[in-house]
Amino acid sequence: MGTRPATAAGEEYHDFLVIGAGICGIYQLIKLREIGADALVIEKNADVGGTWFNNRYPGCRFDSESYTYGLSFSDEVLQEWDWTEHFSPQPETLRYLNFLTDKFNLRKDMQFGCTVSSMRWEESSRTWGVALEDGRTYRSRFLVTALGLLSAKTPPRYPGMERFRGLSFHTYDWPHDPPSLAGKRVAVIGTGATGVQVISAIADQVGELYVYQRRPNWCAPLHNRKITPEEMADIRSRYDEIFEKCAKTPGGFVHGPDPRSFFEVPAEERQAFWEHLYSTPGFEKWVGNFREVLMDEHANAEFTEFIANKIRERVKDPELAEKLIPRDHGFGVQRVPLETRYFEAYNRDNVHLIEIEKTPIVEITENGILCSDGEREFDIIVYATGFDAVTGAFDRIEITGVGGQRLKDLWDDDPHTYLGVFVHGFPNLFMLAGPQGASNSTNFPRAIETGVNWTTDLYRYVLDHGYERVEATLDAQSQWADEVRAMYSMLLLRNAKSWFTGYNENVDGHNRSRNLIYNGGAPRYRKTIEKVADAGYTGVDFA
Ligand code: NAP
Repeated sequence: MGTRPATAAGEEYHDFLVIGAGICGIYQLIKLREIGADALVIEKNADVGGTWFNNRYPGCRFDSESYTYGLSFSDEVLQEWDWTEHFSPQPETLRYLNFLTDKFNLRKDMQFGCTVSSMRWEESSRTWGVALEDGRTYRSRFLVTALGLLSAKTPPRYPGMERFRGLSFHTYDWPHDPPSLAGKRVAVIGTGATGVQVISAIADQVGELYVYQRRPNWCAPLHNRKITPEEMADIRSRYDEIFEKCAKTPGGFVHGPDPRSFFEVPAEERQAFWEHLYSTPGFEKWVGNFREVLMDEHANAEFTEFIANKIRERVKDPELAEKLIPRDHGFGVQRVPLETRYFEAYNRDNVHLIEIEKTPIVEITENGILCSDGEREFDIIVYATGFDAVTGAFDRIEITGVGGQRLKDLWDDDPHTYLGVFVHGFPNLFMLAGPQGASNSTNFPRAIETGVNWTTDLYRYVLDHGYERVEATLDAQSQWADEVRAMYSMLLLRNAKSWFTGYNENVDGHNRSRNLIYNGGAPRYRKTIEKVADAGYTGVDFA
């Protein structure tokens, strides 16, 4: 690295500052070390893990096959680490991330308890100044964000929430010392992937469970089970094949779309195929289906009806079953929660469904929840109400670029990025899980590995050439935005009110669709970024 920029008193300087020590920040630090860069990771939590450090609610686990979630870069790690379940529970995943951290001795270049409040570009020194909430400051030539896609929780905004005298928390903040649930009256508000996992896990532990559902989701069975030592040995021997398969599928999973067209397969055969899909583990029924199910209204409606009938078979009370069937969107256009006996939970006498579209929540009281049909008292209220996805973690930091431009203002209408990595006007800022990148819509670590390998090659290129300033052109950014928009228009998910479209009524201004994610699939994204690099980083200016 060239001359070291001047720093203010007490300011700590590093060539690369990485924000976030989840799986993304961990891998980026490993790669930065490989190129001999001076790098520091700062993290708001007390330790590594990111989403797997924070989310400790009962039932929290992967929806991706465990052996496709781990990083693939090190044969040694692959040989040493054993997954014990096909879909790893949160404590095991957190252990895995700690194992990586220890193995590569990463903590010596990490600082914890660092909540970033601002990031300011300084043109004169071509550096970023980063300030923490506690007043500490850092300066770096390059700033790398690994903030997480779903790390800005959004509790609802009901009146009286602070008045409740029992325990209440967002699922992201489930106490590390978990409260006893035995015999307790518990309310869960929200039925997304998180709520569905919590409800299934605690239904038989609590006294009474009331589920406050706004809109039901299309859920499907996870079919998790233990991995035997023989299976783990087999998985280990097939890692190359597994990762190669993931690299070829749009979602980065071991499941890829069925090669046949929905329309060329006779109706009876489709039903038999779907019966098979429903019995398979993981996301096969979502991303291993006919492509048309996610793109064509008619195909989607037929599969949606198939899943509705499954719900009717599993929920004993026919009226209740109908309440658990979504009416406003088809299967798979929102993130599909995978579940373990979720629908069966509603067959229990202690589990009750409150449809808040019919009897809205009026306020949270000292003792519980007041709906339009009366008050119910609780010991614990769980807000499983989701996240200000993808841009939320950026919006919570005051980020200013060239000429004092605020990133939040620039993204107010819609996020603008180049490849999901760069933002014009914010030089030397590299986003590893930024809006309009591929990690948002795919098996996260697979896309992260691709992305981090690519940014690391870029850093090497920058260092080798002695460049001090890297910025995407406005043209390249506009073209990328057009491509991202065009892909949304091809998919039924464009109409859904979910985080895939950046929709969130708990955030001012986000009760509308935004072009938040890249929907072109991992192989297409990889090809695009490889082409950009091979051509000497088209769309990027270096100085
Ligand atoms: P979510 O999918 O956004 O679901 C939030 C839920 O809360 C929805 O049911 C929503 O209802 C409801 N809600 C929001 N605001 C509300 C309000 N003011 N009043 C009442 N209900 C409200 O959030 P999530 O369940 O936390 O999941 C987010 C994402 O995290 C998932 O899609 C997934 O990508 C990831 N995740 C992954 C795993 C895994 O890998 N296994 C597990 C959990 C989560 P509406 O639908 O009506 O808006």
